[in-house]
Amino acid sequence: MSIKIELYDKKTIDLPTGLFINNEFRPASDGSTLTTPNPATGEDLATISSATEKDVDDAVASARKAFDTVWGTNSSPGERALLLHKWADLIEEDIENLAQLESLDNGKPVWMARDVDIVDSIGCLRYYAGLADKIEGRTIEQQEGVKLAFTRPEPIGVCGQIIPWNYPIQMFAWKVSPALAAGNTIVMKPAEQTPLSALRLAELAVKAGFPPGVLNIVNGVGAITGNAIANHMDIDKVAFTGSTVTGRKIMASAASSNLKKVSLELGGKSPVVVFDSVDIDQTANWVCMAILFNHGQDCCAGSRLFVQDTIKDEFLKVLKRKIEEIQIGDPSDIKTFMGPLVSKVQHEKVLQYIKYGEEEGGKLLTGGLQQLSHLDAKFKNGFYVTPTVYTDCKKGMKIVDDEIFGPVLAVQSFTTEEEAVKLANDTAYGLGGGIFSQNASQCMRMVHAIKAGTVWCNQYMALSNSVPFGGVKQSGFGRELGIEGLKEYTQTKAVHWNYGEEIPWPIDGTTG
Ligand code: ADP
Repeated sequence: MSIKIELYDKKTIDLPTGLFINNEFRPASDGSTLTTPNPATGEDLATISSATEKDVDDAVASARKAFDTVWGTNSSPGERALLLHKWADLIEEDIENLAQLESLDNGKPVWMARDVDIVDSIGCLRYYAGLADKIEGRTIEQQEGVKLAFTRPEPIGVCGQIIPWNYPIQMFAWKVSPALAAGNTIVMKPAEQTPLSALRLAELAVKAGFPPGVLNIVNGVGAITGNAIANHMDIDKVAFTGSTVTGRKIMASAASSNLKKVSLELGGKSPVVVFDSVDIDQTANWVCMAILFNHGQDCCAGSRLFVQDTIKDEFLKVLKRKIEEIQIGDPSDIKTFMGPLVSKVQHEKVLQYIKYGEEEGGKLLTGGLQQLSHLDAKFKNGFYVTPTVYTDCKKGMKIVDDEIFGPVLAVQSFTTEEEAVKLANDTAYGLGGGIFSQNASQCMRMVHAIKAGTVWCNQYMALSNSVPFGGVKQSGFGRELGIEGLKEYTQTKAVHWNYGEEIPWPIDGTTG
């Protein structure tokens, strides 16, 4: 069960297309498949197996068996670390192929897939490999010489992991690394828009030596495969990254099935606040990064910009120039900063929001609905949009309130710091926020005031495997990355130990 995929460099790779269960690739129980297009051309790229409820059952059974026999508390932290390191080494050796495959399936520029997503993913596997033998409990003294208590952080068990399409390899790494390091087994569902790189990672996991059942990958659609994971009675935890709408469904499924643990990393509508003390040129670069990196298909994209009115005109002039300098087009070209959006559905959704911006009174600074005239003929059916900025926006407009997940920026201005805080926090989300100011006291006041899981000061979008990431409010709960990310995959067992107390019997109120 494999297909041949021609990469940008004309090299052809064999890619398995089946469901990855118990270290083997197999077709779906009813033969279901799904087809993923190349978003740059709109042409079909690959057809792969799509898991049914029965397939999810099989994957869970395999993960359960591995947890009870070879993984979990039946494995040592050292073994788990070694396998994660081996896997990281193999991914590093395969980085060119993986990056091209990721770019073909997702549309992101190949250099971005390689130098950002995959490099960080390798780092993530190694970071958690290093933490595997640093999972420690506490001793809590109870009665000197008689009794003590201690805690054991234990793995949770079989974990369902459902990931989105914006960073397929990176989201995969963020999820599997801490889960495996802590001794859990996995049933992973990649997004149906970007299912391919996970299959190559699965092959490399076998090569690294992971025992059968430790990692299972069930590609499939959300309503069937994802739903089966969220509702499964023998999955102990579900970790999800995706939209707030789907996050709600997953939490409801977890509640109505076996009350599995849930962690959710959901949508955002993150504010970027620019005060008039900033270096305009540098800050405009960061604002471009905030809204345009990964084509704005980013849960922490800085999609609401607030500029202090004293510098608004000058700042927007510089911002417009910088946005119009960006190279949009061929994802295989090292000079390209923006390729196509991931899918037709996403393309239509973003174009619809660009229309709403116009209809609801936004003033177009740059972009809009016009076609990208410079594109090569082979990209004419690709899912491209022009980065778009509307100024004079206000609360109540769809482009201000809704998560668009595309390169569309809504700009508002403010006069006072107090007003900036109020505007920035006026959202249901709380994933990220950016503050730009040369006044350190003002930055610190803003850090305290912004309601978000991450705040960036005089930069945006920086992420590190050692720094926790996650949301507040309707952006979800739980943290990924860092030591906090590992803790999401352990649960504490408390042990009370008696080594000296004798208990009289029978007992009553006179016993003491
Ligand atoms: P988008 O709308 O941008 O595709 P989603 O949040 O729907 O974002 O998708 C993120 C992940 O959630 C994908 O892997 C998708 O297949 C999965 N998913 C979608 N719907 C459900 C569902 N009802 N139950 C479980 N998973 C789902």
